[in-house]
Order: sequence, then C-alpha cells, then structure tokens
Amino acid sequence: MKIYSKETLNDHELSLTYDDISLVPSEVSRIKSRKEANTETVFLEHDLLLPVLSSPMDSVTGVLMAESLHDLGCIGIINRFDSSLDQVYNNDEHKITAVSISLNHDASLVEKMAERGYIICIDTANANNKTVLEKCEYIKSKYGVKVIVGNVAQGSSLGELVDAGADAVRIGIGGGSVCTTSIQTGIGIGQASSLLDLYFARESEKLNIGLIADGGIKSPGDVAKALALGADVVMLGRMLAGTKEAPGEVIKYNDQLWKKYRGSASFGVKMKNEFIEGEETMIPYKGPVESVIDAISDGLRSSMSYMNCLNISELRSTESFAILSQSSYLERLPKK
Ligand code: IMP
Repeated sequence: MKIYSKETLNDHELSLTYDDISLVPSEVSRIKSRKEANTETVFLEHDLLLPVLSSPMDSVTGVLMAESLHDLGCIGIINRFDSSLDQVYNNDEHKITAVSISLNHDASLVEKMAERGYIICIDTANANNKTVLEKCEYIKSKYGVKVIVGNVAQGSSLGELVDAGADAVRIGIGGGSVCTTSIQTGIGIGQASSLLDLYFARESEKLNIGLIADGGIKSPGDVAKALALGADVVMLGRMLAGTKEAPGEVIKYNDQLWKKYRGSASFGVKMKNEFIEGEETMIPYKGPVESVIDAISDGLRSSMSYMNCLNISELRSTESFAILSQSSYLERLPKK
C-alpha cells in the first residue's frame, strides 16, 4: 500500500474527503499516555485549549454557546440571523470572542463589535467575490480587528484574500451536513482536497492567513484528519448542534429528545422562497456541549498519541496518509 505525504495526496487524481483517507501511524510513539498530548493552540491571537470554532448558524451559536465555548477554551462565532447579535450589541458584559456579520449589516453595529475587539467573520457563501473582499478591506483598514472570510474551495485566490486583509479563511464549499449547494449548483470538491489545495497555496506563496476546515466534520477522527491535512482550526456545525447550549427548543417526539439544526441558507432562516441552499433537520438532543468538547479532546489526544505527535503543530506536520478503498472504509465502521 502506498503511504501518501500531503504533497502526493494533493496530486491524487480524484477529489477526496475525510472518509476517503486515514492517518497511518508509521513511527514508534514516544507518548506514554494520551494525556501527554497537548491540544492547545493560538488562533488569531487567542489562546485555545482545543482548535475548535463553532459555525455562525442560528441553530448552533448564540450568546450561551459562545460563552460556554469560551469557558471551554474554544471560540464560538455568534450567528448574524437571530437576536443574539442585539444581545451582544446592548450588553458589554458578555464573554464573546467572535461575531459574524452579513455584507449589509448596519455600520454602527460593525463599529461597536470592532470597538470591543471581537473577531469579525464576514459570513457569506463565497469569499471569491469582489464585494466580500471590499468589505474585508474596509473593516480591516477602518478598525484593524481580526477578520475571517469564507468560504472558498480552493487556493488560487488566496493571495487576493490576504491582500484584502483577511486573517483567516473558511475552507469548504458544498461539504456542510445541511448544505445543498453542490446539488443546486454543481459546485464544490471534497473537503480533504480543498484543505490540501489551500494549504499548498499558503505554503508556496508564503502567505500569512489562518486555515479553517469548515463543514463535513462528523467525528473526533475527522477533526484529527483535518488538522493533519494542515488546518489551523476546525469549524463545527452539526457536532455542536443539538446540545443544551445551542439556540432553540428541546422537542420530545417518539420518546426521544431532539433539537432543530438548519442551514443558514435554508427556508426556515430565509423565510422566503428565494434561492435555498440548505436543509432543515432534527438531531437527537446531546446534553451539555462540554461532553461533546471532551469527546473531541479525548479522540484528538488519542489520535496524536498513535501518530507520535506531542502537540498540534506536530500533528499538522503529518506526512503519513492512506487512501481507503470502499471496503476498507466499511471495515472501519462498527458493526451491529
Ligand atoms: P457541518 O459541520 O457539516 O454541519 O457544516 C457546517 C457548515 O456548513 C457551516 O459552517 C457553513 O460553512 C456551512 N453551511 C451552513 N449553512 C449552510 C447552508 O444553508 N448551505 C450551505 N452550507 C451551509
């Protein structure tokens, strides 16, 4: 079997995603216990205990989720749709790190968020767009805050994003679990290939920009794969949705507790029949977000101990991947 480095994996003829690849532990690990693996990282000048951001979606991140993730050493990005931003706007007390805005958000709101030093995420479907880059340039030059733009699927325009002042970019088009973009538009490639393309664009042009693996992450193992492929942090929607801290009601149906999870471009968010690129679904209620974060942390540490990585930067330097056949992928799944 061929062991792929990032470079040879990037040369693969087909677009790949997390389920197509696996990490291959090829060294004797010097790590005695997974507790020794250190998952801390610095992202946009914030010290994190775990490289995890939450998606700025109205069924994922409101004030409660952002504050809880802040306490857990992660970053929650407040969504731009519901009343969460107003709560932040009218109250200085919140422990908030990042907020998202649309292209036509009120300038006074953006100014207030920027004055408080929050990271500003310009939440759009396509960052390869002149209006998005102009907005980024404007916010960056006027307020000097950290700006996240998104999303992109490959790296050919990365230099232009950096020139517009972007500090980090969300990578992934069509890979989100409630995303129908690829079906509606025919756009998008697998997440692993997207990440590698952006990683090499940044390396070859020596650009200074953070890479956020956004969409399609279903498990702690996918988090480990995304970081090994070179992402600086991961962004999670579905994995954090359905928790106690996610906005929305808990619903009892068929003797099971559920919470709603919906795409930012779903009908439920837009409330009009304009172009819809997202689904709405119910997911089983998961209880406190802390238990999800703990599970990610445990899985990631365990992966790092297999891969002989003491810290996240060693994990990011992984050069030992396999491409799975369909039957090896199936073999890896637990059986009933
Ligand atoms: P998940 O973690 O796989 O559920 O993906 C979450 C990501 O899906 C978000 O961070 C967005 O990048 C993306 N996303 C959210 N809403 C929509 C939508 O309505 N259409 C397409 N993509 C979406």
